[in-house]
Amino acid sequence: MSKHYWTNWSGSVQCTPGRYVLPKSTEEVAAIIRDAAREGKTVRPVGSGHSFTELAKTNDVMISLDHLKGLMEVDTRTREAHAWAGTKLWKLNDVLERYGLSMENLGDINRQSIGGAIGTGTHGTGLTFGSLSTQVIGLTLVTASGEALECSAEQEPEVFKAALVSLGTLGVITDVRLRLVPAYRLSYVRKKGEFEETLEKADAYAHANRNFEFYLFPHTDTVQLKFLNETDAAPMRHTMRKWYTDTLLENTAFGVISRRCRSKPSRCPAMSKLAARHLTECEEIDSGHRLLSTKRSVKFNEMEYALPAEHGAEAMRELKAWIEKQGIAVHFPIEFRYVKGDDIPLSPCYGRDSVCISLHMFQGMPYQDYFDGGERIFRRYDGRPHWGKLHSLKAKELAKLYPEWDKFKSVRKRLDPKGVFLNSYLKALLGM
Ligand SMILES: Cc1cc2nc3c(=O)[nH]c(=O)nc-3n(C[C@H](O)[C@H](O)[C@H](O)COP(=O)(O)OP(=O)(O)OC[C@H]3O[C@@H](n4cnc5c(N)ncnc54)[C@H](O)[C@@H]3O)c2cc1C
Repeated sequence: MSKHYWTNWSGSVQCTPGRYVLPKSTEEVAAIIRDAAREGKTVRPVGSGHSFTELAKTNDVMISLDHLKGLMEVDTRTREAHAWAGTKLWKLNDVLERYGLSMENLGDINRQSIGGAIGTGTHGTGLTFGSLSTQVIGLTLVTASGEALECSAEQEPEVFKAALVSLGTLGVITDVRLRLVPAYRLSYVRKKGEFEETLEKADAYAHANRNFEFYLFPHTDTVQLKFLNETDAAPMRHTMRKWYTDTLLENTAFGVISRRCRSKPSRCPAMSKLAARHLTECEEIDSGHRLLSTKRSVKFNEMEYALPAEHGAEAMRELKAWIEKQGIAVHFPIEFRYVKGDDIPLSPCYGRDSVCISLHMFQGMPYQDYFDGGERIFRRYDGRPHWGKLHSLKAKELAKLYPEWDKFKSVRKRLDPKGVFLNSYLKALLGM
């Protein structure tokens, strides 16, 4: 136990917890929580720190799940796995592959912990895939009293549903049971396209491909389309081409472009056009989990909203027109993805198939005007913000967006009446 300076991935949130602890068992987690509660301290669990919001921030007790990691059990017959919640997604899927199994979908990166990823409803893209939380079939939750609750659809079903996206406000999830699928190989095709034509065909593409998404380069009509589909064809890795597109273009060169934009934001439109001009088209074939996630070494801040899928195209058109009219200084591409609806109380995709639109701004560049304008548009379409990404909503607005808001709050109050798991950000978010 020691004083520890903590910062999230983008550097936007920093704190110095009074105690930074790395428990190695559920019993240790329970003892830490009991001690903190007895001393009137608050507790925040943290995974990989990849959220942009102040969810994990604390000056009291921060519980890192980094030492609660690894696969405990795999059942190849039922295709289920039991893993510690601190396990990183990339590591988990590497190990699962050896058993011929895989998670059915992943987000844009795979550096998150399982507990942290489900904590905010992290998702990838694909009309038939819900967020990662929908792949969880059971979990252990250590609550404010130090009790370890085993939860699933059969055991403590109400707590289970609420815990599937719970921002670490119901307790610390120490392990999860996951529903898996047989390991699959994907063909990943990247193409360059035109904005309006892509929007018109986007729903059809989403229906016709396992995973489809596109990125709009702001101040241009150029998009990059990504199509992933299952295949039995032999792996095709193009080591050099992959290095050129993933490392050189999308990270190293994009980092140089980004620094030029930061030193002179009026360069953004020209730099976005330059990046769009150099987009490459290529195909790769590899294990699904290796292709679903990408490398992101250029740091940014991000906002994302989940909108009813039928309004995605309209909102995207409006956003593009607004950026151009206002001359917003942004060069980072805007991401457009599909996520299947679910029935998890605090899931941004609750009750509706959704299109998720993400705005990014290079680290150190002002983002407020851009994100405020985007948020105004997304809110007109009943959008719900990603919990781990920047937004301005508080309890009053959020309560109207979530039909099971009160139900979640009553579960939280029952499990943690004294607010052991709340910091000031969460109090405002949940309305305490
Ligand atoms: C480069 C980058 C790319 C991203 N891409 C995507 C994407 O494609 N799709 C998407 O949806 N999101 C994406 N995100 C957002 C990210 O997936 C989420 O913010 C996610 O929650 C981060 O996981 P983490 O392990 O870092 O969790 P943290 O940020 O550390 O924690 C997130 C929340 O979960 C809670 N928590 C963590 N562990 C536990 C636990 N064991 N028990 C209970 N609560 C816990 C924390 O208290 C906090 O409230 C991206 C973020 C970055 C930086």
